[in-house]
Amino acid sequence: MVDKDIVNKLRKGEIKLHQVEDYTKDPEEATLVRRMFVKEISGTELTHLSHYSLDMGEALKRNIENPIGTIQIPVGITGPLTINGKYAQGDFYVPLATSEGALVASVNRGCSVIKDSGGVNVGIVADKMTRAPAIKAESIQEALKIKEWIENNFQTLKKAAESTTRHGKLVKIDPIVVVGRNLYPRFVYTTGDSMGMNMVTLATEAALEVLTENIKAHVVALSGNLCVDKKPSALNLIEGRGKTLVAEVIVPQKLVEQKLKTTVDTIIEVNTTKNLIGSAIAGSMGFNAHYANMIGAIFLATGQDEAHVVEGSLGITVAENEKGDLYFSVTLPDVPLATFGGGTRLETARECLEIMDAYGSGKVGKFAEIVAGTVLAGELSLLGALGAGHLARAHRDLGRG
Ligand code: NAP
Repeated sequence: MVDKDIVNKLRKGEIKLHQVEDYTKDPEEATLVRRMFVKEISGTELTHLSHYSLDMGEALKRNIENPIGTIQIPVGITGPLTINGKYAQGDFYVPLATSEGALVASVNRGCSVIKDSGGVNVGIVADKMTRAPAIKAESIQEALKIKEWIENNFQTLKKAAESTTRHGKLVKIDPIVVVGRNLYPRFVYTTGDSMGMNMVTLATEAALEVLTENIKAHVVALSGNLCVDKKPSALNLIEGRGKTLVAEVIVPQKLVEQKLKTTVDTIIEVNTTKNLIGSAIAGSMGFNAHYANMIGAIFLATGQDEAHVVEGSLGITVAENEKGDLYFSVTLPDVPLATFGGGTRLETARECLEIMDAYGSGKVGKFAEIVAGTVLAGELSLLGALGAGHLARAHRDLGRG
């Protein structure tokens, strides 16, 4: 039984939302109390938010504060997606969480074209996670001295940073950007199978302690936005962040016509006019049709940090005529991913990762390659639909019930 007194205390402002656990026997009861409070103040029955199977006590430790329940997003399955990668080889079924009708069907069509074309080749170009603090010096000259000190003492800073983690490795501090008397050193790490933001934040903090013990420098903020975390940026587009991924397929001319109902040259024209010229004139950093759709749906299904969808939306699609067939590639410079830590341990996320045998230690390379292949499947299918003039029809039929 829920103690109504606690709900009343919340109403009167005598206790705060985050203090409910101090008054209840367990996290589930605290979750229920907050739900009852929300119902009282809003008049909204939270019937569906209250249905879940995940362990709220575990979630409360590292994934959520002030929980009132969970949301539900439909998950569809796509595949088989045939992948020729270093870590992912063979056929995979990929779960996608979305409320956009037609998305799963479209990716599925892409998977089918890929399979009949012999599979998608995938690769990981680079793997890094970054943290760039903002440091203020007294003058330009002092800023340059700090820059020099960082360059000359990389090993000292590396030792301090790596003392906080078993899996995090400081690879370089580059670039060190100076703006007036402000300094932005970009700490670049590898982070094993975790996405790594918590890891590199703690590690960079330890390195900065050593820095400020040795040279006069005022750390304004542990993150100075040159990281660049959760924002679209030219720096990440060029330098990469998270996993930098590429994927390619050669689709025989016949398949383009039979399965995508269009021609090789039409897809090339759509890609050039829309993804390249259209994006250029719009000042977009996403020279693609909809990477964010596949990235977002995979991220939601597998417990990734959903704010990183903005980074995963960057990238360039290439479509070329290869002796009459279609050469098609996607390049994603900035895809932060994890198979360990963060939200991946949530029960539904873990199940979705396990469908692909991509949960836990030693699996992030495989997962990254599957993500790259899935993005290509969705991108290829959409460009095909645009080429064939089918886009509106698919959304009318599948998205409007
Ligand atoms: P985390 O769960 O905080 O850290 C990963 C943990 O797993 C570390 O304790 C690591 O130990 C351990 N670990 C065990 N096996 C591992 C393996 N095979 N590979 C890598 N690590 C392994 O996760 P995180 O990836 O650092 O951070 C992700 C979270 O950060 C997300 O929830 C995200 O929302 C949040 N986030 C934080 C910030 C921020 O500024 N702090 C910004 C954006 C997002 P060792 O460290 O000892 O290796």
